[in-house]
Amino acid sequence: ESQLNPNYNFENFLEGDSNRLARNAGIAVANKPGGTSFNPLLIFGGVGLGKTHLAHAIGIDIKDKYPEKTVLYISAEKFTQQYIDSVKKNNRNDFIHFYQIIDVLIIDDVQFLSGKSGTQDVFFHIFNHLHQNGKQVILTSDKAPVDMQDIEQRLLSRFKWGLSAELQSPDFETRVSILKNKLYRDGVEMHDDIIEYVAKHIKTNVRELEGAIISLIAQSSFNKKEITVNLAKDVVEKFVKNTKREVSIDYIQKVVSDYFQMDVNTLQSKTRKRHIVQARQLAMFFAKKFTKASLASIGSQIGKRDHATVLHACKTVDNLSSTDKQFRKYVEDLSKKLSI
Ligand code: ADP
Ligand code: MG
Repeated sequence: ESQLNPNYNFENFLEGDSNRLARNAGIAVANKPGGTSFNPLLIFGGVGLGKTHLAHAIGIDIKDKYPEKTVLYISAEKFTQQYIDSVKKNNRNDFIHFYQIIDVLIIDDVQFLSGKSGTQDVFFHIFNHLHQNGKQVILTSDKAPVDMQDIEQRLLSRFKWGLSAELQSPDFETRVSILKNKLYRDGVEMHDDIIEYVAKHIKTNVRELEGAIISLIAQSSFNKKEITVNLAKDVVEKFVKNTKREVSIDYIQKVVSDYFQMDVNTLQSKTRKRHIVQARQLAMFFAKKFTKASLASIGSQIGKRDHATVLHACKTVDNLSSTDKQFRKYVEDLSKKLSI
């Protein structure tokens, strides 16, 4: 099964300056899969900017034009899982063979492969085989290849062979047309003033834009209120607040461990190695700072420690950041990464 979502088609992917290059490259690839110099086509950009949607749209269009071609969409995470399973079950070769006979391979969120050398290795071989045989590869990533970390050089250089096209945040006009299109498809009528109010205040990503309009519709129907600019104000305000400060302890641990290039298990482990202890203390400090969780709850989520340990960690971070320049830099860098 190709696993393509039929709603994620080109028609529903509204064009604007922010996505024109990527969208047109996608159309070119869909017209001649494997037959353009955009191979691989790598679509990159931040969260909620339409990478997955565009990747599906290309797959759907190819399926329409070339029904005989096999198109496979898979997330890098699932691909990794399948690979690990194949190794466990001793059928790594079947896994490789399965992917080598596909005409169009779409892998979403390849940044997930960072640090996973086994999966990178197997993907390298699959990629080479497909490319040599004129098959199309489409990738998405949250970063441009130059900014990718912990991806083998030989794979990165393959990523750069074709075209890397960025999806940027849509401008106001595009945000309005995305909202109008969505409302139209859902059969909901809304006054232009309100649509424009939402589009003006929610700028960062399209998923949030859609989320805000969905909450607005829900609010009005639950409370049997008319959708007015005032209601939109309320909803948008709450929405912005909620999405802004929703940093979870898991997320903090992930950001801190990425920053120190360790995995979360290491950060949580019982080891007393200094740099690991410091990473753990920083995670506790930020969990205290950025979440409403109690000391006890922070402790239990960060390697099953007690509340006294968390309290001690917070004090240590405070002290070290006033006495140790390097440590202060860690705190500043991490603060930046964690404030959305
Ligand atoms: P990403 O994979 O980059 O995180 P998605 O592809 O999941 O983002 O997009 C998030 C949401 O925004 C989806 O519902 C998608 O349909 C919508 N979206 C993104 N860009 C556009 C666009 N240009 N036109 C219409 N909808 C869009
Ligand atoms: Mg996505």
